[in-house]
Amino acid sequence: MSLAIPRFWREIQSRYNLIGTKCGNCGKVDFPPRAVCPVCGRKSIGKMQRFQLGGKGSVVTYTVIHDAPAQFEMQKPYVMAIIEMDEGVRLTSQLIDVKPEDVRIGMKVQASFRKLGQDGDAGVIHYGYKFRPAG
Ligand SMILES: [Zn+2]
Repeated sequence: MSLAIPRFWREIQSRYNLIGTKCGNCGKVDFPPRAVCPVCGRKSIGKMQRFQLGGKGSVVTYTVIHDAPAQFEMQKPYVMAIIEMDEGVRLTSQLIDVKPEDVRIGMKVQASFRKLGQDGDAGVIHYGYKFRPAG
């Protein structure tokens, strides 16, 4: 058991590594990780397994952000997208290496860990991954 590790830190770790959970009862994958399967409820207790997402998915919807915070000054406007991973879970991430006008719904994307977000003065939590066009 890893209950001694603060919940906050575990969540940061999973966000950096795209680690979710898979229910040992029904196989449902969740991200961020869950302690209990939303489908199985109590039956899943003790059966939740760590699950590494493959890092590939497609754009469900997106929005172009023009009013960027100070630390994004050099790269605005930028694109935030809801991405459906191949495993079926959805998450929100910035898209990089693509012009806003070239983003398409359904576009295949993959996780990139090259550019980590910076900590802002306000202590804003940035995801450790971003997504870029696949291939
Ligand atoms: Zn389940």
